[in-house]
Formats: sequence, C-alpha cells, structure tokens
Amino acid sequence: MGSKLDRIPCVFMGHGTPLNVLADNEWTQGWRRVGDELPKPRAILAISAHWCTRGTGITAMAAPPTIHDFGGFPKAMYDIRYPAPGDPELARRVAELLQPLPIVADDSWGLDHGTWSVLSKAFPDADIPVVQLSIDMTRPPAFHFEIGKRLRPLRDEGVLILGSGNVVHNLMLRQRNSDFAYEWAIRFNDYVRENLLAHRFGALVEYEALGEAATLSAPTPDHFYPLLYVAGAAGTDEATIPIDGVSEGAMSMLSVVFGKAQ
Ligand code: ZN
Repeated sequence: MGSKLDRIPCVFMGHGTPLNVLADNEWTQGWRRVGDELPKPRAILAISAHWCTRGTGITAMAAPPTIHDFGGFPKAMYDIRYPAPGDPELARRVAELLQPLPIVADDSWGLDHGTWSVLSKAFPDADIPVVQLSIDMTRPPAFHFEIGKRLRPLRDEGVLILGSGNVVHNLMLRQRNSDFAYEWAIRFNDYVRENLLAHRFGALVEYEALGEAATLSAPTPDHFYPLLYVAGAAGTDEATIPIDGVSEGAMSMLSVVFGKAQ
C-alpha cells in the first residue's frame, strides 16, 4: 500500500427536498454513484446550507446527533439516524487552517439533513467520521470562497470536503412534483455549470452580477454558498458534473466533483 494518501476529490451535491432520502430516484442514485466512485476518505468535512450562523462554528463532539431540522414530514423521516462518529481532532485542524479567524467549537448542532440526506446514500455505512462547518451569513460570497481555499490542504490529508445545497433554490416559486423549469432557473444553472467547468470561480463569487436570474435562483444565498467552499477547495483539479437538472420550477440538483475519482 502507498504511504502517501491520494488527494481526495471535493464535492458539491444538490440535495433538494429532504424526502429524497426516502426515495430511490435519479438524484439518490446519483449520490450513491458518486460515493461508490470516490476513494474512501478518512473523514468528511461537510458544509450544509442548513447550518447558518453569525461567526463560523464547527461541530466538535465525538458523536454528533442526527438533527431533524424540518417540519411536517412523515414519521419515517424523524426515525432516520446517521450515526457517523465526529472527529474532534479534525475540528481542531480546521480551526488551525483558518487562523486567525475565530472558529467556535460547537456542541449544540450535529448532522443536519443537508448533510445526512446525501451521505446516507453516498456512504450508507456511516462509518466515516463527519464534522460540519457552519456558514457565517454575515459574510460576503468572497469570504466563503476564501475559506474553501484555506481548507484545500485537507484534501491531501484524506478528508472529503462536501458542500450540500442547491444551485437554484426558490421555494416560493417551487412547483412540486413537476418537470417544469423556469427559463431564468435554467439560465442560472447553465451559468454556474459553465463557470465550474471552466474554473471561472470569480464569476461564481460574483454570481449576483447576473441580475434577475441570480436573484430569483438564489433569493437567499444559503443554498448557494456551500458551492463556493467547494470551488475554493478545487484548485486546478478537473470538474465533472455527475448529476444535473432543474425541475419543480426552481430547484436545481446540479452536483460537481473536482479531482480524480477512482
Ligand atoms: Zn436544503
């Protein structure tokens, strides 16, 4: 066996509705395929659209609880557990890489559905330690990209950097269970895909310059920002798009992998 760890790809996954986790559909099959094709990481650092804070926090507990951060779903959704261990040592390493930015060691969060919905398909055994990094919503897009850049060394330490959100995410205009897609949603999704593939990350950081298509696609930035962390961690590694598609009016499931799969 080689003594040096191979660089682990970094990945952004579109997660869509939490109910995907109970389904066997093209999205969940895509998550499973991505997991199957990745080299097995020794740990996962997840940035989920569903942990938005003031300041930056990191889950520091040895056994993060599964958080059911939604309402009005069937009981089966609340019974789901993703019992991956935490990794306090990785939490410390992340804080070290991000110095002098203060990182709050958190013991109140855990793994939210942005994280466990995709991981329960990509890594169903839940045997890889998972740490979550929160998104400081008081900061501009460039900050989130910069954090991703500073986290890049983790990829050479066996850590999978995983962003979970949605490139297009407008729940007000969503049309449930429909294949329809708004023209502006397709336009924004195309813009993001093309810039990912061409490594034009500045165009992603400045996504708001696209105007109305950006405002409607990301009316709040929480589901878009996880992509900026992954782009920051990407370096010059080649991008592939394993999952794509806009449906339900304004929900994009576009996912991207930077780096070499097995
Ligand atoms: Zn979400």
